Amino acid sequence: MPGIRLERLEKRFGEQTVLHALDLVVDEGSFTVLVGPSGCGKTTTLRLIAGLETPTAGRIHIGDRDVTGLEPRARNVAMVFQNYALYPHMTVYDNMAFGLRARRVPEAEIRARIRRVAAMLGLEALLDRRPRQLSGGQQQRVAIGRAIVREPDVFLFDEPLSNLDAELRVAMRGELRRLQRRLGVTTLYVTHDQEEAMTLGDRIAVMEGGRLRQYGTPREIYFRPADLVVARFVGSPAMNLIEGTLGPDGFRASDLELPTLRGPAGPVVLGIRPDDIHPFREGRGLVGPLAARVELVELLGPRAVLTLRLGGRELTAVMAEAEVRDLGEGAGLALGLDPARLHLFDARSGRRLPDPAPVSAAAG
Ligand code: ATP
Repeated sequence: MPGIRLERLEKRFGEQTVLHALDLVVDEGSFTVLVGPSGCGKTTTLRLIAGLETPTAGRIHIGDRDVTGLEPRARNVAMVFQNYALYPHMTVYDNMAFGLRARRVPEAEIRARIRRVAAMLGLEALLDRRPRQLSGGQQQRVAIGRAIVREPDVFLFDEPLSNLDAELRVAMRGELRRLQRRLGVTTLYVTHDQEEAMTLGDRIAVMEGGRLRQYGTPREIYFRPADLVVARFVGSPAMNLIEGTLGPDGFRASDLELPTLRGPAGPVVLGIRPDDIHPFREGRGLVGPLAARVELVELLGPRAVLTLRLGGRELTAVMAEAEVRDLGEGAGLALGLDPARLHLFDARSGRRLPDPAPVSAAAG
């Protein structure tokens, strides 16, 4: 299965540049997710690959073919849209057959392909229905089936699950993942939902303002965000960010000192994921203790989200329910930070700095 290679891809609409010289390689057979806030250029990227938009500059390769100048139908790409885009007057069968008939695939072959894909997606009993006689989830499945029967080189998904309710979305997510593994077709999937990106992607491309901010595995994106944009965008609850300075005495903010943190001197932003804040215990190598006060405890079953006050600032922490069982709102709590999981960013450029290796002495 061919991969996709975008080379200095640029798109302008009038005065506005919505893609800035985007370089991206989507590996053969991979499930790659393009994620970023609304308006960052995700859909435009997909439409350029599909041939529904013309780039202002740059090249698009699918496998070893340069498809930049090719008509959409010559690219052998199948796109699945958020709104399904099914033909309302056609049956499910005819919706799935439509693209194949346009390509003059023999009817017997069409029938065989539709049967196979309908079985794969549990659509056998629905083939004679029209879209309005289907639930949203079933319509989405037909739209996916229509893409699969075309046996494309590449699948492009544009927020295909956003119109489904939460439960169905999670179920379809898993189904889509398994389906893609089974078919092995190179897939580029657009979403603005970072959780969806984390659970679906072999690799995730985080975009912002028409630029690629980071391209990596879900682990790399989560545990080593390349800059503040990615750090803020990925993770829920969001990473705690504390502005301060690094110097010979460690990290200092207006009301927080972590003398054991080391790194290049200058203004920095310290990033702490809510999961990496713990009740302080001696002997566990935690940075601390830091005296905080509990403002709010929100229980999510086995885990709790805590809103904490540390000096003049608010921190969000996520802890095991058992650890916070006896903590009422207003209670004091000594915090410890996992030193291996702290993030430092250059306050000016927003770029990630080398990990803030703490010296072994306990924090003051
Ligand atoms: P969303 O998640 O909201 O769909 P997106 O990341 O997919 O956002 P795009 O749809 O690619 O973003 O849009 C990127 C930018 O390009 C936006 O500012 C949008 O207004 C602009 N844009 C998109 N299509 C056109 C067009 N045909 N003409 C002019 N501007 C456009």
